Amino acid sequence: MSKKNAFVKFEKVDKSYDGKLLVVKDLNLDIAEGEFITMLGPSGSGKTTCLMMLAGFETPTNGEIFLDSNPISNIPPHKRGIGMVFQNYALFPHMTVYENLAFPLKVRKISKDDIDKKVDKALSMVSLSGFENRMPGQLSGGQQQRVAVARALVFDPAVVLMDEPLGALDKNLRESMQYEIKHIHESIGVTVVYVTHDQSEALTMSNRIAVFNDGKVQQLSSPDKLYEEPENSFVAEFIGENNRFDGEVLDVSNGVCKVKIGQSEILANPISVKSKGEKTKVSIRPERALINPKDKMDNNQKGKIEEVIYHGDHTRVRINLLGNSDFILKVPNSSQNLDIKLGNDISIGWNSQDARALDPK
Ligand code: ADP
Ligand code: MG
Repeated sequence: MSKKNAFVKFEKVDKSYDGKLLVVKDLNLDIAEGEFITMLGPSGSGKTTCLMMLAGFETPTNGEIFLDSNPISNIPPHKRGIGMVFQNYALFPHMTVYENLAFPLKVRKISKDDIDKKVDKALSMVSLSGFENRMPGQLSGGQQQRVAVARALVFDPAVVLMDEPLGALDKNLRESMQYEIKHIHESIGVTVVYVTHDQSEALTMSNRIAVFNDGKVQQLSSPDKLYEEPENSFVAEFIGENNRFDGEVLDVSNGVCKVKIGQSEILANPISVKSKGEKTKVSIRPERALINPKDKMDNNQKGKIEEVIYHGDHTRVRINLLGNSDFILKVPNSSQNLDIKLGNDISIGWNSQDARALDPK
């Protein structure tokens, strides 16, 4: 982590709405000042609940949240200095763009001159200078969401929370807004806590990502580590594309394990397994397995090509390998043709380090 440690801190936070079921379980999370952190996970995994607790609209059942080292449970939402952009937290429809942005400043009793300056600055940040007198209904969906971002930033909050802010936009607009929000973050250095269920959005925007499932953080890592080094089967499956084999550990030694898959044996990287007899799921990213490799690799297996799909920059090849008829490879289309034809028997190679032996779930 960079700069000051733990600008926002969740400490042993549990949340239950009904007094029985915990929807957030023992959350411990340190967010550095200026960091862009994303909570990523399937619907119902507890992401919004975490943001609501940080914003002050929900109270933790156990534990405490700190902002700049101060516990915040007794501070009401409007005194926390937190800006918010939610998918359904719409602009005030009867107010102009200027009035929408001035609103959080008036509440904070800022002078008219300062309000004008701050509104100007915030609108230029989202490239909407000159739109002051428009009504929200006269703006496109993307422009409305940019006004919402400007409104969240206009009072110089310490932290900005964004909950699926781009969810209602179409794909192209969503992608350009991802870069826009990322660049605003980089230029002003505000701390952002972002929520999405869209992994590519999370990978594009974040310094770090907390993957949620079932109310628990499964892994907290930088985007590249999350993809390259998933720590459990849930993360390996949830992020990116993944090939997996169910197997049983035969041996672990010197940082390599031998795993029995059906009647075959492969060598893998023992991430979550320690000893003989354990069940495991071995996870291999599609681009880590090579067709007819020139050099010797730790693992070499014969497979049969079941499907070939052209994708422009790469070809996606589905192979029946070790009883898994859904083993996917991605072959860059720049590489010379490797005799990739439907029905061909081919040799597939990968290094043991790239086959991660994870928990069997
Ligand atoms: P996410 O944002 O990851 O989709 P949520 O935090 O909204 O997840 O929800 C987590 C769980 O808490 C879900 O099972 C949801 O149904 C439940 N939940 C969310 N808000 C409330 C509420 N106000 N009252 C009761 N249950 C809720
Ligand atoms: Mg949600």
